[in-house]
Amino acid sequence: MLETKNYRFWFCTGSQDLYGDECLAKVAEHSAKIVEALNGSGHLPYEVVLKPTLITGGLIRETLNQANGDPECAGVITWMHTFSPAKSWILGLQEYRKPLLHLHTQFNREIPYDTIDMDFMNENQSAHGDREFGHVFSRLGMERKVVMGHWAEEGVQKRIGDWMRAAVGIVESSHIRVMRVADNMRNVAVTEGDKVEAQIKFGWEIDAYPVNEIAAAVEAVSKGDIEALVEEYYSRYEILTEGRDARAFREHVAVQAGIELGFEAFLKEKNYQAIVTHFGDLGSLKQLPGLAIQRLMEKGYGFGAEGDWKTAAMVRVMKLMTAGKAGAKGTSFMEDYTYNLVPGKEGILQAHMLEVCPSVADGPIAIKEQPLSMGQREDPARLVFTAKEGPAIAVSLVDLGHRFRLIINEVNCKKTEKPMPKLPVATAFWTPEPNLQTGAEAWILAGGAHHTAFSYDLTAEQMGDWAAHMGIEAVFIDKNTTIRQFRNELRWNDVAYGK
Ligand code: MN
Repeated sequence: MLETKNYRFWFCTGSQDLYGDECLAKVAEHSAKIVEALNGSGHLPYEVVLKPTLITGGLIRETLNQANGDPECAGVITWMHTFSPAKSWILGLQEYRKPLLHLHTQFNREIPYDTIDMDFMNENQSAHGDREFGHVFSRLGMERKVVMGHWAEEGVQKRIGDWMRAAVGIVESSHIRVMRVADNMRNVAVTEGDKVEAQIKFGWEIDAYPVNEIAAAVEAVSKGDIEALVEEYYSRYEILTEGRDARAFREHVAVQAGIELGFEAFLKEKNYQAIVTHFGDLGSLKQLPGLAIQRLMEKGYGFGAEGDWKTAAMVRVMKLMTAGKAGAKGTSFMEDYTYNLVPGKEGILQAHMLEVCPSVADGPIAIKEQPLSMGQREDPARLVFTAKEGPAIAVSLVDLGHRFRLIINEVNCKKTEKPMPKLPVATAFWTPEPNLQTGAEAWILAGGAHHTAFSYDLTAEQMGDWAAHMGIEAVFIDKNTTIRQFRNELRWNDVAYGK
């Protein structure tokens, strides 16, 4: 489910025919060496493909349009080895619509003091050529990423790799289809939004289905398939019956197995990659989807509770951005629940009624069944665990009526001071940057939701790159945030984006 296409990124070197064939041969040779080193670095999640040196406006336009049309090309990396008069780029860039990274590098790391002459300078003048290229991009008002540094530096390679993941999030965004099972929770504001505008901005298709249509798919799952999946659950997870009758417990677990299989079949059949549910609108479903939704999230589906399609789509985007990442620690839907306000131990307990993705789990995962205080169905089975420690990001996409705003908070996940034996849900606990007080004040001033899309495996910069390409406002809450500066930023953004 989390498979992305076999994406590639095109490496396009800019030059011109002023320098003669000998110089252009070296340009091509240098570009080939850089591409080879990038591909061999182990820091890039996707392959870089070398394209012929771009020396005329016609070739630039043709190449960038080929990039637009190639479904496996997720973006272009440009570098002006020499000088490439940027008027030649205008038409091609105007027609180009995928992510672009301007790699501001240079083939040689050091000035060859003993041998440098004018020929060398003319051949190695990206300090010059990349400024010309950057100017026309700024003049066109187009989004692009600029990464500066020597191509063999690990830090530069990692930033290119990070950007590739953001680029995949950008190109995959327009393939995301969100299935809404029932509507937004009644009277709730922050989970609402303009679905037409979301399709215009992000490419998301968001459709509603009557709950009983998907419930029929659940009822159609065979007993044999359900039993096989329950067996898998029982072998994989700890079973905590907590005094409940073992047979009845297993029957309740089987209900979630049926929901997992039925929902997945329905989502696949209708080509949706994210789903929202609503505890108050369950039709003929016997339980609120808990364990079932947790497992679907782990498989890569986006999820939002109570009809929250914005968070569902963001979870899907972020799971795609982290696809195949070695040592990934997890990405999930999350909800701010309750605070610890003890000085020195401040933090927010994160959970949901049931639906936290087990990809973030640390240690063993158990199945429990407990009553819900909301919804009128039988006690749902759910996976219970605590989340990993370490830095992460929590993001919230809100609709301000006239624009979308992405709020990006860096957070530090910790273990709670003590276990919580009576809390039958999966949890995380974090302290937002720069601290709980300023972090929470800034979040509330920005209008951030109680629901978030959360990941250990992405950076604020990557989410900012995603938002920039989408043309939406992004605000960052991190170690540098002060309330005075943040309030001004929100004011200024009202002017920049229109209030
Ligand atoms: Mn909720």
